[in-house]
Amino acid sequence: MQIRIEKTSNPKAKPDPSTLGFGKIFTDHMFLMNYDPENGWHDARIVPFQNLSIHPASTVLHYGSEIFEGLKAYRRADGKVQLFRPLENIRRLNNSAERLCLPQIPEADALEALTTFVKTEEAWTPSAEGTSLYLRPFLFGNDESLGVHTVHHALFIIIASPVGSYYPEGINPVRIMIEDQDVRAVRGGTGYAKCGGNYAASNRAGERAAQKGYSQVLWLDGVERKYIEEVGAMNVMFLIGDEVVTPKLTGSILPGITRKSCIEILQKEGYKVSERLLSVDELSQAMKDGTLKEAWGCGTAAVVSPIGELLYKDQKYIVNEGKIGKLTQHLYDTLTGIQWGKTPDTFGWTYQL
Ligand SMILES: *Cc1c(COP(=O)(O)O)cnc(C)c1O
Repeated sequence: MQIRIEKTSNPKAKPDPSTLGFGKIFTDHMFLMNYDPENGWHDARIVPFQNLSIHPASTVLHYGSEIFEGLKAYRRADGKVQLFRPLENIRRLNNSAERLCLPQIPEADALEALTTFVKTEEAWTPSAEGTSLYLRPFLFGNDESLGVHTVHHALFIIIASPVGSYYPEGINPVRIMIEDQDVRAVRGGTGYAKCGGNYAASNRAGERAAQKGYSQVLWLDGVERKYIEEVGAMNVMFLIGDEVVTPKLTGSILPGITRKSCIEILQKEGYKVSERLLSVDELSQAMKDGTLKEAWGCGTAAVVSPIGELLYKDQKYIVNEGKIGKLTQHLYDTLTGIQWGKTPDTFGWTYQL
C-alpha cells in the first residue's frame, strides 16, 4: 500500500501532560483512505488534521453506517512506543464492518496504516505516568444519496489524541446501577459490533443513572432482561467464591480485547474462569450471601475499573466494602505493566514500533 504523507507546516505546541483529559486534544495529522467499488480502498494519505467536508446526504448522517475502534500507543520507560494487540482491533473492525455492510480492509493494510500513522505522530505520545496516545480508527458510509442500500463509498480515518491517566486521583471503585428498562443490544442486532449507533441508544440509561449519582449502568440481556451483559461501555467480571465469571459472548456483547486479555492472564495463572450466562438473580444471591468477592469492568480506556456498589430495583449492595479487590488490583497491575513495558510481555501482546 502506498501512503502519501503531507506534513503540516504549522505544528501545534504539545500540551501540558497534567491537562490532557480524554479525547479533547488532537495531534497534528490524520490518516484517511477512500473506498469505492471501482478502485477498492485507495488514496491512503496522512495529512494535516482538519475538518471533513461531506455531502449533506452522506449515508452516515442519515442511516448511521459507522463503526470505530479504540486502542492506545504507550510510551515505555526506554522511550520507545508500543501498541497492545493491534491486530485484535483490526479483526474486530472488520467483523463490525461485515455486520454493517461496510467494506473490510485487508489486515496488512490496516496495520500498515496504523503503524505508519503512529510513527508520524510518535512525538505526541506522552510519557507521564498513566498517559498514552489514544488512537481512534473509524469507518463510515459516504454515499451521496438518500436511497437506502448497502454502502458503495466509504471513508476510513484514524485520528489520535494524547490522553491523561484514567485515574488521576488513584483507582476508586465506581457505583453501578443495574438497568431494567432500556437495553443496549439484542442477539441478532449489532451488540457485538463496535458501532456508533449502540452508543447513541445507550445514552438515555446512562443519563438516568448519572442523575441518581451512579457512574454507569449494568446492562441486562434484551430478551429476558435477566442475564448480565456489560457495564457501560466495558465488559464485566465477577469473583464469586473462587470462580471468575464473565458473561459469555452471545452476540449482544462487545468482545473486548481487555476482557480477552484478563481471561488469558487468569487462566495462565490457574484461576477458574467461566464464560457463561450469569443471571441477575444469581448475582443478587451471591451479593446477599457474601460469595460475591469482587466485581470490575474492563476496557481499553480504564483498563480495569473496580465496582464498589450495585443498585438493583432500589436495593443497594456494597461490593468488597467499597474497596478495590486484590484480584482486580492484580489484573490492573499485570495489564498496565505489559502495556507500558514495565514488566516482560510473556504473552507476545505488545507491538513495538
Ligand atoms: C470498546 C468496548 C468495550 C471494551 O473493549 P476493549 O477492546 O477492551 O477496549 C466493551 N464494551 C463496549 C460496548 C465497547 O464499545
